[in-house]
Amino acid sequence: MIPMRLDWSGVATAHTDDADGTLVELLGFPATGTIAPCATHFLLLPEAPCCAGCLPGDPTGAVEVFAAAPVPLRLGALRLQGRWQVAREPRSWHYRLQDARTMEAPGWRAVTRRGVLAAGPLMCLATCARAEPQEVRAVLAASPAIDIHSHAGGIAGVTRMRSGVGFSPIADPMRAGGLAVACLAVVSDGPTHHIAADGLIHPYRTPEPGELAAYGALAFRRLQEVAHAQGLAVIADAVGLRAARAGVPSAIIAAEGADFLEGRLDGLADAHARWTLRHLQLTHYRVNELGDIQTEAPVHDGLTDFGADVVRACNRLGIVVDVAHGTLPLVRRAAAVTTKPLVLSHTSLTRAPGPRSRQISVEHAKVIAGTGGVIGVWPPASIYPTLPAMAAGMARLVDAVGIDHVGLGTDLRGLVGPSVLPDYDALPGLAEALLAAGFNAAEMGKLLGGNYARVFLASVG
Ligand SMILES: [Zn+2]
Ligand SMILES: [Zn+2]
Repeated sequence: MIPMRLDWSGVATAHTDDADGTLVELLGFPATGTIAPCATHFLLLPEAPCCAGCLPGDPTGAVEVFAAAPVPLRLGALRLQGRWQVAREPRSWHYRLQDARTMEAPGWRAVTRRGVLAAGPLMCLATCARAEPQEVRAVLAASPAIDIHSHAGGIAGVTRMRSGVGFSPIADPMRAGGLAVACLAVVSDGPTHHIAADGLIHPYRTPEPGELAAYGALAFRRLQEVAHAQGLAVIADAVGLRAARAGVPSAIIAAEGADFLEGRLDGLADAHARWTLRHLQLTHYRVNELGDIQTEAPVHDGLTDFGADVVRACNRLGIVVDVAHGTLPLVRRAAAVTTKPLVLSHTSLTRAPGPRSRQISVEHAKVIAGTGGVIGVWPPASIYPTLPAMAAGMARLVDAVGIDHVGLGTDLRGLVGPSVLPDYDALPGLAEALLAAGFNAAEMGKLLGGNYARVFLASVG
């Protein structure tokens, strides 16, 4: 099939929307926050970005690329061929190029200061070979690395979950990066939120009775199918977790938001037994029956009585309790109610979180640490433009709450903007950055999985 050649002047017109599903070719400049020399997930822009944070505000201003194989992110333009995909639901970028591969080199551009800044540390790397200290692989082999919060495979997408097609590889990138376990989270309130005019995610309608319970059941079933199809072992207990190893990828079934319960506790035991649910985040982008969220005005003054009942039921059944997205009053009450350590799976520390911010204060972090729990640091490029910056962010959280209470929560395929950890092949790069930041092998083992494993074993047994 001869691909249709697109150019940027035609992007965001009826012409490009009509190209949905067809094979196209597009010339552009790659942008990614990762320091890896290659990537399978990055943005393509009409001109070289001057820095990681300098991305178009318009969702049609960049094309999100999912490559069939790692693409060398060289200095200069890339000509890519792939399947054009137009968003049917609101998301950060309106266009995608799926199964992309590079075509002939379009000729190197003259090296400019802008181009040098865009390419950064890639300049000295001529090939995809990554210089990995033996110590990095040794740490990942000795202490299984765990991602506390992930939507790898694209499992956050409502359309994909409903259709059951279009999932991207999870197990192969985990093997490539040495990740042993991913907590794979279905998004319980997915059908009822979207990216609003302010560029942030908000709920936009009230779900119909039974709608989110039905969507939750479908999403858990799809997740089981995807795990099975990709050969991921599903961890149900301590034996499963202790068997997890780098090179033999495993999954912990998680939910982002307990909205699928629709205010009824019996759905929890059902999800535990039927879908192997072992990690439950109480709230997400909708103020649900369990409590208040960071991104909307408070309604319940923190955790509701039903939310407290869910925490107790999780403790009893053997489900990790995750308070990500919850307000500080919600976290405080959850900490008072729980008999097991809490997880806050994906966030970052900031001195003074702004209104509706997903970041947390030292005070907020200390409540989690006080339960013996763990806080996953996430990788948005808008917060950490490089992996060394992310390692420094983890170090700051360690300084605030101690080495036993910090972990990794990538929110893979769930972040609205670019990520410095867009796929697991970037994990050794983070481990290198942690080594360079001064953590020793034992400390890195705790940060990259050991601390979460301790919480999982205490909660699930
Ligand atoms: Zn989230
Ligand atoms: Zn998420």
